[in-house]
Amino acid sequence: MLHVVTKDLGWIEVITGSMFSGKSEELIRRLRRAQIAQQEVAIFKPEIDTRFSSNHIVSHNEQRIPSIAVKDVAEIFEKSKDAKVIGIDEGQFFGLELIDVCQKLAFQGKRVIVAGLDQDYLGQPFEPMPQMLAIAESITKTLAICVKCGNPANRTQRITQDTGRVLVGATDIYEARCRTCYEPPEEAE
Ligand code: ADP
Ligand code: ZN
Repeated sequence: MLHVVTKDLGWIEVITGSMFSGKSEELIRRLRRAQIAQQEVAIFKPEIDTRFSSNHIVSHNEQRIPSIAVKDVAEIFEKSKDAKVIGIDEGQFFGLELIDVCQKLAFQGKRVIVAGLDQDYLGQPFEPMPQMLAIAESITKTLAICVKCGNPANRTQRITQDTGRVLVGATDIYEARCRTCYEPPEEAE
């Protein structure tokens, strides 16, 4: 966490981990604090993720904050003009173009906070989050609780037979597992 705030210094914060690890919760917490401080805040999520709401970021424990559902990163850039603080959830769904846009916003003096999955259901790094980690000023790795053994969990187990990297869902499709309890789907072996 950065503690020195000067007027024009922009930076990138990344919050990343498995599903149910508290990424959205942490993103919402940081954005609420910025709002309390009367900073201009713009909050985005990808159109693809309308699981709980199309106009809010909603965490699995029912925290919520109003957000704009956008189709791509160009829309994020366009709608961030007046913002000092920018929150982006589900960063893994925006593709590699997210990197450049976040860099531009940070160079404009904005605080950019990106939450997203670090690994896909096969346990592979989920672009563009690895690249975002590389360029960020601050990184928070969040952990869930393994549903099998109770240890800290950093993997997302898909519990259906579906294949394909993008499959939006919650406890109906995924559960949090530690590295020992995680069972790679056949296609990953
Ligand atoms: P993420 O954005 O990382 O998917 P959320 O912030 O939406 O996570 O949700 C975090 C919340 O999920 C926790 O505070 C807890 O209430 C709930 N939760 C459900 N399953 C688990 C689990 N296996 N481990 C930890 N938290 C869980
Ligand atoms: Zn476990």
